[in-house]
Amino acid sequence: MTPADAYAELVRRSKEVALLNSCSAVLQWDQQTYMPRAGAALRGDQVALLAALAHEKATDPRTGELLAAVEGSQLVADAGSVEAANVRELRHTYDRAVKLPKRLVEELARTTTRAQEAWVGARTKNDFPAFRPWLERVLALKREEATAVQCGMRNAERGMENQKQPPDTGAGVDIPHSRFRTPHLYDALLDEYEPGATAAEVKEVFAGLSKELVPLIRAIAESSRKPDRSVLEREYPVDRQKVFAEAAAAAIGFDFTAGRLDTTAHPFCSGFGPGDCRITTRYNPRAFHEAFFGVLHEAGHGLYEQNLPAEHFGTPAGMYCSLGVHESQSRLWENQVGRSRPFWDHFFPRLKQTFPDVADVTPEAFVAAVNDVRPSFIRVEADEATYNLHIVLRFELELDLLTGALPVADLPGAWAEKFRALFGLTPPSDREGCLQDIHWSFGGFGYFPTYTLGNLYAAQFMRAARRDLGGADLDAGFRRGDFAPLRRWLNERVHQPGRRYRAGQLCLRATGEPLSPGPFVTYLREKAADLYGVC
Ligand code: ZN
Repeated sequence: MTPADAYAELVRRSKEVALLNSCSAVLQWDQQTYMPRAGAALRGDQVALLAALAHEKATDPRTGELLAAVEGSQLVADAGSVEAANVRELRHTYDRAVKLPKRLVEELARTTTRAQEAWVGARTKNDFPAFRPWLERVLALKREEATAVQCGMRNAERGMENQKQPPDTGAGVDIPHSRFRTPHLYDALLDEYEPGATAAEVKEVFAGLSKELVPLIRAIAESSRKPDRSVLEREYPVDRQKVFAEAAAAAIGFDFTAGRLDTTAHPFCSGFGPGDCRITTRYNPRAFHEAFFGVLHEAGHGLYEQNLPAEHFGTPAGMYCSLGVHESQSRLWENQVGRSRPFWDHFFPRLKQTFPDVADVTPEAFVAAVNDVRPSFIRVEADEATYNLHIVLRFELELDLLTGALPVADLPGAWAEKFRALFGLTPPSDREGCLQDIHWSFGGFGYFPTYTLGNLYAAQFMRAARRDLGGADLDAGFRRGDFAPLRRWLNERVHQPGRRYRAGQLCLRATGEPLSPGPFVTYLREKAADLYGVC
């Protein structure tokens, strides 16, 4: 078999796995939107069968043979080619999958399903001791998973060194590898969401961020200017919110001939593949900002999915780069664009026409309200500045939980202590503390950092786009409701490359600089100066 034949066979197999996963995504979208409640058991069986088929295909030893037949051949000699990127990423996924014993995969699935149920109950009753044994069990399994994967990662790293790859191809965040030789168990879990990134890199970026953020948020809290948030909590009829939010999603470029917006309890975006991307939201008749910014957020994710290169569907070159980069696209449209004054110069007159209840509100008061920074206990309700301190707190705690330095029994106390240090407040209960998020119950250790990485990437992409396209021209376009130049820039620099580069390298290529907290901090400082008179 020639390397070209082996590569064609690898691509065919990769597409089959992608199609199976895509079928499963359609069923899961349906479950969240229109499925009758009585269909849950049947749906569980359908999704489990598809997952088993996909896993079987993904771990087929034939894939390992095909990879070996292509690796080192002329076909992948150019490290920047689609073929080389596909082979590199397929190898990465294959090695991870085969390192996990079937017993561990099944036990994780079973335990996390029950742990999520236990979490729902414990959260409702504010009963951490009821959740504690489940969290201990999930952690033990995640430790086992990380250990199994890490052996594979070390071998792969040795292989990469032999191939003399440039150092930045592997890094999620561009910091020379030599400084972080000791791998952390956490790296193996983070890698699932942010391929190639390490705990040490994230730690350094987050340290730089909190150093700036903590004093800025304190200064804002001490400012005498307090935006009136109540303008967002007037009468906003749901049917009108739906029309208004759909118009905004279409204006930024979400293609409704290749996508839909529906209603769910937990908003999400699911890209099934070329031509079909579903986004969802939930409406609150007395909270305009919840659904509106939620829709902009999911439409930002949707724009990424809709603009991935369709010809590479089913292979890494046609996939999103990392969860951090995915999140950068949602936050860029939601915050960098959607909370800006030029955006509201266009949409505010329409807002007033649509919702008579805000007839007396000025655009200044409205923009101040949607940008209000105020420490709060719940992550998902946090503003774009304090949000990141919620992530820093979770990241630091999950590192210690994973190594065992923090016993699960001590989690509530450790949470409260860190919260006081970062926010100057004490959570009134565990429900508003360590029980608020679902992530740890489903085993999502390593997931949280991608939210803040997304904020940092978003600010850095936006700064580069403003530099390349002219900030004043971009703003003038926003005031006319024209978002096409920014969208084209993102298509070219971020969407079209798919997973051809790791996130750190993608950022370097798109912006000319490695990821740093600088652009995000500058963006927040400028807003704070404007809205609160704080420097
Ligand atoms: Zn998101």
